[in-house]
Amino acid sequence: MSISGKIEELHASLPQGVTLVAVSKFHPVESLMEAYNAGQRVFGENRVQELLTKQEVLPKDIEWHMIGHLQTNKVRQIVPFVSMIQSVDSVRLIECINREAERIGRVVDILLEIHVAQEESKTGWNYEELVEYLQSEAMAELKNIRVRGVMGMATNTDDEAIVRSDFERLAECKNELAPRFGEEFDTLSMGMSEDYALAIECGSTMVRIGSSIFGHRNY
Ligand SMILES: *Cc1c(COP(=O)(O)O)cnc(C)c1O
Repeated sequence: MSISGKIEELHASLPQGVTLVAVSKFHPVESLMEAYNAGQRVFGENRVQELLTKQEVLPKDIEWHMIGHLQTNKVRQIVPFVSMIQSVDSVRLIECINREAERIGRVVDILLEIHVAQEESKTGWNYEELVEYLQSEAMAELKNIRVRGVMGMATNTDDEAIVRSDFERLAECKNELAPRFGEEFDTLSMGMSEDYALAIECGSTMVRIGSSIFGHRNY
């Protein structure tokens, strides 16, 4: 199916209250424009340089989400325009985003990326460490970030029971953390091309879909 056909199909089929993030990493701006012209406005990228290049040439009403591992020395480049940073997984990064946002008088929406998958290599907080950090109240001092919720990825496996249990765990983390934040803590970002239907069943409010919209990536 064409990119625009796929976007239209997703817009028609995703339940109300589930936001589609079109993950456009490694795809050319022409492909993003096709999705844009089909009505898509939220795009996710995982590398700062690529995000900057695309943001510069594409329409200004696009909401850019950073979804990949972010180094603190690159935060300054994206803070002026990024709509949400989903991949926030360390105290250092949180403090850096807050500092850079304060410098330019912005409040930046972030998600806390939590590690639940079985693979060692995946990024994200260890949940217990995150809770410990939140108990320190240090985050309450940070006025230029707005914590909107939780992001995560399931184990990369065909075993649906494992994927479901990872998603359920993420939903549980989100529910446990919610009382520490305000009403704006409303986002559970989970689900990709292969597993988004299951993620929605488990409570996802934001799906990040790449290859099933844009086709396979040539790394
Ligand atoms: C690439 C990527 C996706 C999209 O994956 P697809 O399988 O192509 O849908 C979602 N989330 C993150 C964090 C990614 O890096």
